[in-house]
Parts: sequence; C-alpha cells; structure tokens
Amino acid sequence: MKIYDISKEISETMIVYKNRDNKKIVREIVANHSDNHFHESKITLDMHCGTHIDAPLHMVENGHTIEQLPLENYMGTCKVFDLTAVESFIRQKDIVHLPINEKDIVLFKTRNSYSKVYDFNFVYIEEDAATYLVNKKIRTVGIDAMSVERDKPGHPTHKILLGNGVAVIEDLQLAEVNAGEYELIALPLKIKNSEASPIRAILIEK
Ligand SMILES: [Zn+2]
Repeated sequence: MKIYDISKEISETMIVYKNRDNKKIVREIVANHSDNHFHESKITLDMHCGTHIDAPLHMVENGHTIEQLPLENYMGTCKVFDLTAVESFIRQKDIVHLPINEKDIVLFKTRNSYSKVYDFNFVYIEEDAATYLVNKKIRTVGIDAMSVERDKPGHPTHKILLGNGVAVIEDLQLAEVNAGEYELIALPLKIKNSEASPIRAILIEK
C-alpha cells in the first residue's frame, strides 16, 4: 500500500500567509529532559497555517464550525486533477472537461505545489469555477494554495463554496502525486466552535 503524505510540515520556519510574522507559529518548551526528565511543549498555531480545513464560519456569519462538519467530506474516494498548466487562476473553462460528478471529493494540483517560497501570485479558484463546482454538487474541493482565492474583496470564492455546502481543504502538498483516483484521509481536529482546523492529509493509492 503506497501512502502519499500531502500535508505541509508545521514548524517555526514554514511558509506562512504573505510571510507575516503574526502568522508564524510560536513554540514553547514547557519541560525538558535535563531539568524535568520529560519533554513537554506548546504551540500557538494560526488555524489557517499549513494544510487545513476551512469551516463555513470562516466566511459565513453563524456558519457551521469544525466539530459540526460531516467526516465523509474529508475521507473516501478522491480525484486528483493536474492543473499545473494553469498560469494564474482556475476558471470554469479549465475544469469543465474534467470528470467531476455529484458527491465527488476533488483535489486540484497546480504549480503552487512546486513553489519553495511564498508566491504572492499563487494559483487560486476563480468565482466561475467555484459556482461550477457548487452546481455539480461536489462534496469537497482541495487545493495546494494557502487560500482558495487571492486578495478578492468580499471573499467571493470562499463564500460561494462554504455558503453552499462544499467543503474546502487548503495548502495541500501535491508535488509527488500524479493525477488519478486515491483514498483520502484528511480529518480535522475536534475543536469546538472553531472556524478551521489543521489536518494531516494523506492519499492512499488504490
Ligand atoms: Zn483557511
């Protein structure tokens, strides 16, 4: 059984949104082996740092929170599509020919997966593509971008997806994965009233 780890590593030096200092994780060593004979630590982690799930509350007032979401959205058969040829954003015309069906979990692999620094021009999902996915009644869309959209006033792509019951996974790492069908496991932590959660996302080859 071949397992692909499609998660970003969480560390003090990981790439964070717009390289902002206030997005970086803070790690505190609470106890160590020389002083305490055991090791214990804490981290302060922005919920949108690294591979994570956005719950509707992130963009929809009174929207559902992480612990209320159906786990079927984050596990099961999933289709990875190669959109590495897309230059700046994914439009309906880029995905209309793909075999996307009702209840699908779809992951878009883009050139973002190969970026080694924060790319201010990362590939994202344009509104017309988001509307197309909603009309297709898919279950979940995942992308290898820190956000499903980039600097859009009013966050229309998030609102179209999260406001219409499509689950969103962000900041996947898909460089090692070819297009095809896999089993996905990408479960959120059970954090009450949270608008997002970090995940460990894996694909299992069928
Ligand atoms: Zn997010």
